[in-house]
Amino acid sequence: MTDFTMEKGADGVAVITWDVKAKSMNVLTREAFALVEALVDDALADPAVKGIVLTSGKDSFAGGMDLNTLATIRDAAGDDPAQALFDFTMNGHRILRKLERAGMDPKTNKGGKPVACAITGTCMGIGTEIALACHRRFMADNPKARIGLPEILVGIFPGGGGTTRYSRMVGAMAAAPVLLEGKTLDPKKAKGAQLIDEVVPADELVARAKDWVLSATDADIVKPWDQKGWKMPGGAPYHPAGFMTFVGASAMINGKTKGVYPAAKALLSAVYEGALVDFDTALRIEARWFTNVLLNPSSSAMIRSLFINKQALEKGANRPAVADETVRKVGILGAGMMGAGIAYVSANAGIEVVLIDAAQDAADRGKGYSEGLLDKGMKRGKVTAEKKAEVLGRITATTDYAALAGCDLIVEAVFEDPGVKAEVTKKVLAVVPADCIFATNTSTLPITELARASDKPDQFIGIHFFSPVDKMALVEIIRGKATGDRAVAKALDYVRQIRKTPIVVNDARFFYANRCIIPYINEGIRMVKEGVAPALIENAAKLVGMPLGPLQLTDETSLDLGAKIAKATKAAMGAAYDDTVDEVIFGMVDAGRLGRKSNAGFYAYDATGKREGLWDGLADHYPVKAEQPELVEVQHRLLFAQVLEAVRALEEDVLLDIREGDVGAILGWGFAPWSGGPFSWLDILGTPYAAERCDALQAAYGDRFACPALLREMAEKGQSFYGRFGTGVDSRAA
Ligand code: NAD
Repeated sequence: MTDFTMEKGADGVAVITWDVKAKSMNVLTREAFALVEALVDDALADPAVKGIVLTSGKDSFAGGMDLNTLATIRDAAGDDPAQALFDFTMNGHRILRKLERAGMDPKTNKGGKPVACAITGTCMGIGTEIALACHRRFMADNPKARIGLPEILVGIFPGGGGTTRYSRMVGAMAAAPVLLEGKTLDPKKAKGAQLIDEVVPADELVARAKDWVLSATDADIVKPWDQKGWKMPGGAPYHPAGFMTFVGASAMINGKTKGVYPAAKALLSAVYEGALVDFDTALRIEARWFTNVLLNPSSSAMIRSLFINKQALEKGANRPAVADETVRKVGILGAGMMGAGIAYVSANAGIEVVLIDAAQDAADRGKGYSEGLLDKGMKRGKVTAEKKAEVLGRITATTDYAALAGCDLIVEAVFEDPGVKAEVTKKVLAVVPADCIFATNTSTLPITELARASDKPDQFIGIHFFSPVDKMALVEIIRGKATGDRAVAKALDYVRQIRKTPIVVNDARFFYANRCIIPYINEGIRMVKEGVAPALIENAAKLVGMPLGPLQLTDETSLDLGAKIAKATKAAMGAAYDDTVDEVIFGMVDAGRLGRKSNAGFYAYDATGKREGLWDGLADHYPVKAEQPELVEVQHRLLFAQVLEAVRALEEDVLLDIREGDVGAILGWGFAPWSGGPFSWLDILGTPYAAERCDALQAAYGDRFACPALLREMAEKGQSFYGRFGTGVDSRAA
């Protein structure tokens, strides 16, 4: 174990360097923490050492805690995981407190050794918490580097002292963006937010930190909370100003999290309760709340999906073992809404792009979309003029198919029409190299059918982007019946290049994401038809963690698109098609209420397009019943409509890996992130209870809620999804 090494200089400064050799970024493990302590003990005990500089051997400082460590501790602790997690956390506090007190006399606060942190670059989570325990923080002036405490984004909160230290440094209100929103800051902004003290040139970083260590006085290294008379900035809870802060913060958190994210509330509790006591007791309180959150099933599910499994998928967990397929030149067909977005993310990732449309002005407009986004980035100081020129320089907008020569990947995004798609496919194949992979961005047409237009169906695949392409993190890769491994590898390597998260599914109607989201929308509309109050439907969805209620989502995606999909689905399914919601959708379309785009839908909008509230005219068509269902009943209808579709996709081998099912659901359509995804949610419910709920919902509302055979079998055996399929290996046969 050499994650940390120490070199004692002749100048009396011990430099501790963090460098986890096997990783591109430093992450902290349990063992490494013990090593830090041993080195700190050594430096503090050595009379030749005057002070310590803590730095990194990489151009980043730290990625954070190895989150697998927390899961391992919990899982290894047997009957008493709470005690094990609490002890682990308290041990971390003890070590960082030792660093912070640095050997000073407990009464006089004198005689300690100065400790500076030289932050070489990006610094996250526990890295920042270690830095906060030091006496002064220097950060290299790399504007691309970020520092912060983003734990809240994966369902936990900074539990290595960061919550207590940072809130005591700047006050609860000022700490909120960093602690509660997980905002990460560049060095300049971090200095403004007091996360660091100085921004210095990278090549002077360690020297400047050493200079400070050698000149620091006793008074320079005593933390404010260790001094007599310390008061919380902005006011502690019993102070009038503090009172207002905490009342406001509590309301804000409930408003934002709708009470479904335990970490935000626990964080605020740790700050509030901690502010009432001395620093060491506050750390104990923080550790208790941290343990509480770690044991909450929502937190472990979020860590699993949003951190561990998301990363595993990005690193190619399901990539076939074929040679590197990094994309060098991509041809994009159709420069409309999707094609333009795909061109932007590709060029931005350094890939040469040929953007084709039927007319030159359409192709130019598609390229203009990139220009618009880059201009916006420049206004916000995120994009330089050189970068803009470089990205635009990579995009050739043309109508000339000959420009596609040399492309190793094509992404087709022309009209959703099999005839048009077949025609362009043939034109492309005539000019591209024989080994070029052809991908279609269709959202509804079967890949296997579209592949018929190609004489190389093994090189034909679906790469399904979500709109808006530059913002949406998920990309669905669809294997047609004949799609070969090299096409899958090409698609995965491309998605890695454009820094998005891939899932790989088999070809079936609506693939995975749309297959699950459509029943959610339909369930909401069904309820309108039944006379459930629209406000109850929308609020029930939001209170269970869906980002948009089904009616708002319909307005955003437009009712005419809904009508188009309904017609196409009916044509494809024939007698099996359930047309319950068509009356509502077609009625709205006929009345010109197409959603946001027509300033009228299930919601009313003002002239500027601002959403005002639910449209009260809806009740004239679908009167609200006097008796309304329970909130949880509405929530279960909305969630089961989605998760049962996910289970069926797994049963039918459309979905091959529940990790993809969970990650894809959260990133693709915002499925209640607190739950960790549909399969995690079923595990939280427990499969026996989930099966019971299916039976009750089926009896009350119809066969669409019938318990899938797989779920029934698992309920009978008392199995969980992650217990049975958790590693991504399909063990259904076992
Ligand atoms: P769009 O109408 O905005 O763009 C289509 C573009 O293709 C137009 O610019 C059109 O001029 C061009 N085009 C049509 N025929 C052509 C031809 N023969 N040769 C060259 N260019 C041609 O449509 P869009 O929303 O960008 O959708 C494109 C594809 O992406 C569709 O298959 C759609 O199903 C799929 N998709 C759309 C979304 C979405 O949210 N809009 C999401 C995922 C996938």
